[in-house]
Amino acid sequence: FNQPAASCYQCGVKNKYRDMVVGVNAKVPLDDGTYITGVNFDNAATTPPFYSVEKEVRDFLPWYSSIHRGRGYKSMLSTEAFEAGRDIIKRFVNADSKRDVVIYTKNTTDSINMLASVLSQNKDGRDVVLSTWMEHASNDLPWRDKFFVDYVGVDKFGRLSLEDFEAKLKKYKDRIRLVSVTGASNVTGYINDIHKMAVMAHGSGAQIHVDGAQLVPHMAVDMQDFESAAHIDYLSFSAHKMYAPYGSGVLIGPGAVFENCLPYSQGGSIIKLVTHERIWWEEPPQKNEAGSPNLIGTVAMVSAIKTLSKLGMDNAFSQEKSLLEYAYNKMKSIPDIKFYGHPGKQEMIGVIPFNMEGVHHSLMSAILSYEAGIAVRNGYFCSHPYCEKLLGYSPKEMEELMNDPDSLFPGIVRISFGLYNDYGEIDRLVYILNRIAVNKK
Ligand code: PLP
Repeated sequence: FNQPAASCYQCGVKNKYRDMVVGVNAKVPLDDGTYITGVNFDNAATTPPFYSVEKEVRDFLPWYSSIHRGRGYKSMLSTEAFEAGRDIIKRFVNADSKRDVVIYTKNTTDSINMLASVLSQNKDGRDVVLSTWMEHASNDLPWRDKFFVDYVGVDKFGRLSLEDFEAKLKKYKDRIRLVSVTGASNVTGYINDIHKMAVMAHGSGAQIHVDGAQLVPHMAVDMQDFESAAHIDYLSFSAHKMYAPYGSGVLIGPGAVFENCLPYSQGGSIIKLVTHERIWWEEPPQKNEAGSPNLIGTVAMVSAIKTLSKLGMDNAFSQEKSLLEYAYNKMKSIPDIKFYGHPGKQEMIGVIPFNMEGVHHSLMSAILSYEAGIAVRNGYFCSHPYCEKLLGYSPKEMEELMNDPDSLFPGIVRISFGLYNDYGEIDRLVYILNRIAVNKK
């Protein structure tokens, strides 16, 4: 399997975005003691940072200082950078400049936990959250102890069923506080029609939250369209999936909602005045950002957003679409390969979930990594109910398998592209997969 990458570059097409990210030429060790240029097909988990992010952080570091309360020159510059980031983020997803606030969080998970805490204080007589079968655990578990949660179903290909959505909106009628749906699936890559869902949710008097962890890094998002009630009320996403490092993310939503609720995390930075009898809170978003913030993480996130804006999200999307089509067209003729989902039949981000008959998903990802230097992800991707459904196991069967120490737990192999991946890297993957298919017993 140890084909040097260059010999696999059959198609000769070079990706013009390739040199934008750090680490694409890093050599990784193989089992036979040699080294090979690593391939990262695990971008749905985390992307490598842009060089522009690395540079902006390095340039900023000499000016890094305490923010908000500091009077020093560096403090003022740091505060300015931190606050200016909010407008750049708003413009990136076309949030409403007056209505919405951008709250800095740790990541999407943190954003959704915050939203669940805030909305549970203000249920407006509505106690149901409609989630879906397609969700990452981060957009499922935070709702469970605070609301009654039901899940919109998916069809046999794993696509969200808008008929079931309509039926559930009718079933719970005036009880739905929020529809919380992923913009795109981290397992199958399906992009959900969030604006159509928004119109339907608003028609039931509910609000809509979009988990943008997999959507915002890949395509243009527009939070507005109030006239046709297709606007997005709340949006969350993480920096580490969009070419900046771990540790920063955002929750965007109407400031008024946060104004009327207690912050879910409390401490310094969020208070105007405290006596032992009373607290006077800062206004949102500051009210919802307790403790010292991740200033460098925020600078990095905003820098990545500036680079993506300059590049154009439509360009990013079409580049990834071209990689997806190239890979799928080559992979579909590999013997014994099985895809999950319905490639090509619905708009998708660059994710391909698959298995090869007779090769356990863990073994497949280990071979790809140790013998070919290709990083993929395998398992359930934190989307257990969805993967169980795609694999055809019942929850009871899964529980039995989990409790059986000798069982080979089922799962899926996932490749996921960033806009910098190369067609030659896909050639290498296809070459190796064909070899595995031929050589497996
Ligand atoms: N939502 C989706 C769809 C995801 O794919 C992920 C991460 O993989 C998350 C939420 C959680 O993101 P984070 O770990 O950055 O909080």
